[in-house]
Amino acid sequence: MIPVSEPVLGPEELKYVIDCIKTNWISSAGAYINRFERLFAEFCRTKYAVATSNGTTALHLVLESYGIGAGDEVIVPTLTFIATANAVKYTGATPVFVDSETDTWNIDPAKIAGKITPRTKAIIPVHLYGHPANMDPIIELGRKRDLKVIEDAAEAHGAEYKGARVGSIGDSGCFSFYGNKIISTGEGGMVTTNDERLAEKATILRDHAMDPDKRYWHNEIGFNYRMTNIQAAIGVGQMEKIDYLIEKKIKHAELYNDLLAGVPGIVLPSQASWAKNVYWMYSVLVSEDYPLDRNGLMNHLKENGVDSRPFFYPIHQMPPYRTEEEFPVADMLSATGINLPSAASLKEEEINMICEIIRNV
Ligand SMILES: *Cc1c(COP(=O)(O)O)cnc(C)c1O
Repeated sequence: MIPVSEPVLGPEELKYVIDCIKTNWISSAGAYINRFERLFAEFCRTKYAVATSNGTTALHLVLESYGIGAGDEVIVPTLTFIATANAVKYTGATPVFVDSETDTWNIDPAKIAGKITPRTKAIIPVHLYGHPANMDPIIELGRKRDLKVIEDAAEAHGAEYKGARVGSIGDSGCFSFYGNKIISTGEGGMVTTNDERLAEKATILRDHAMDPDKRYWHNEIGFNYRMTNIQAAIGVGQMEKIDYLIEKKIKHAELYNDLLAGVPGIVLPSQASWAKNVYWMYSVLVSEDYPLDRNGLMNHLKENGVDSRPFFYPIHQMPPYRTEEEFPVADMLSATGINLPSAASLKEEEINMICEIIRNV
């Protein structure tokens, strides 16, 4: 089976992990954590990066650091991974959903203003599947209405909006290093920001809110959202190959685009004129003009040894968040979207084979 994704690990990661074990620095103190944070901040072109236990805790930590909680509202796209909304819920605040754009599949900026109320405290645009959200109108709204803009960049390490790296555009950015993400530390996450106060607050809350000047003294309720030195050691190894991994993904997407161009009913992914798409997941839409529906194509691929994934279900459809409100674009994208094999380790012959299968249906 050709997998949808897999981590790409090598001798560097192995060497750094062995170093952790040989030196006994296996927990959440140790030199790799600062090193990984510095490398990642440099990569995102931000002043600060704060490593966390995973991407969901990165989001929750940022929201808590901004003091968002019960009675507040946070605007999120309905078409995203569930963690974006759950992190809002964990604070006691309410996620307010917005429909998607047809082309970039991201939150539709034109539909945000109508959702802002006096209780709104933040907007979380998500850079879905590697394509950056349209940030200028969102930043503008944030400024005008005094809202924090938190980028959920869990799927878009290295993507760019008008030349700026995701994670450096809003007030803060959140990344994931889960096994299927662009780089992986097994489990792991990162907060990026240029805001010194946010970085300090997040660093304290991440470590049980322990007073940095008074050990075992806690002025508020914090969390244990620390990353381990072993995870960070893998992260340092991954940072040595992140540019290569992203280049590979873009190359693969270009080949897919060439081979699938003109196939009736297959809608190729877009790249807006202002965007650098890093194609975390190479994805297409299966429209009515294709002989099979999306699930039919997934089954057909599976029978031919090719794994794939359906798009996320829009969050407004699922029991914890169900609403009567309609989100037609997200519903359409979710029903027709498919993630094809996208691992950086994928071979050109494999892409040829996959496209051959799709073309010959
Ligand atoms: C993966 C992901 C997360 C959560 O990251 P974890 O590390 O799995 O907790 C959050 N948001 C989006 C959009 C994601 O894809």
